[in-house]
Amino acid sequence: FLKGKTALITGSTSGIGLSCAKALAAEGANIIINGFGDVDAIEQERIALEELSGAKAAYSGADLTNPQAIAEMFAMAEADFGGVDILVNNAGTQYVSKIEEFPPEKWDLIMALNLTSSFHTSRLAVPGMKHKGWGRIIATASAHSKVASPGKCAYVAAKHGIDGFTKTLALETAEHGITVNAISPGYVWTPLVEEQIPDTMKTRGLTRDEVINDVLLKAQPTKEFVTKEQVASFLVYLCSDAASAITGANLSMDGGWTVQ
Ligand code: NAD
Repeated sequence: FLKGKTALITGSTSGIGLSCAKALAAEGANIIINGFGDVDAIEQERIALEELSGAKAAYSGADLTNPQAIAEMFAMAEADFGGVDILVNNAGTQYVSKIEEFPPEKWDLIMALNLTSSFHTSRLAVPGMKHKGWGRIIATASAHSKVASPGKCAYVAAKHGIDGFTKTLALETAEHGITVNAISPGYVWTPLVEEQIPDTMKTRGLTRDEVINDVLLKAQPTKEFVTKEQVASFLVYLCSDAASAITGANLSMDGGWTVQ
């Protein structure tokens, strides 16, 4: 049902973003993937997306901490696809440490990537969406946009920022056929989660199994990781006409974590 639409998914060479790209491609959308990684592997993913969608897929290696690179990515989207109809603000990173040892440059990186990049992508996407009278802006926020965990001051602050940004942008665009929402997953098994295990072991003095069972899954009453595919199918639903009344929402998908 997305034939003729173009979706740009930031941070989509891996994890949740790549699953979202595949799910949107399966609905026939043109896809712009973005992120870092092995050039050949990314090209294989790009080709696979075109096979899946029967439409076009492009790759931008824009570093989303760089506003100029974001502007160039949008110039490419405009020239090659006539703009972006569906913007998925997904790129993000994590760093786990007590505040006394939290490197200021990690704070700056997380703010730039997990929060400020969404301002730049959205400010460049909204004019075209208003012009067309249709648009979808969806953030991959986090349960950490609603609640906190120790060791994650920058991530929690940035994700709470996304919550406020989503609400504000929803109000600004509500009369233009544009919806702006956040999906807030609990723990999803991706490289982002796997890579924070060693630091959490160090910060909290735990073994790997203790981190998985007593820290990560402890928060989730279902005791199961959320899957990338579940996040992607929720995102596809938010792009449908059936979801056109949902805007400004921060929608939990966390196995019951944040109702405790
Ligand atoms: P991931 O590490 O698997 O993927 C991150 C993506 O971002 C990759 O494609 C990477 O290349 C890209 N990226 C990193 N730095 C970049 C930069 N400077 N510019 C452009 N792209 C960059 O992570 P993931 O787990 O799939 O997370 C995706 C989003 O979902 C993040 O915003 C994360 O905070 C959020 N999230 C993840 C979980 C989880 O448990 N995995 C839970 C809630 C929310």
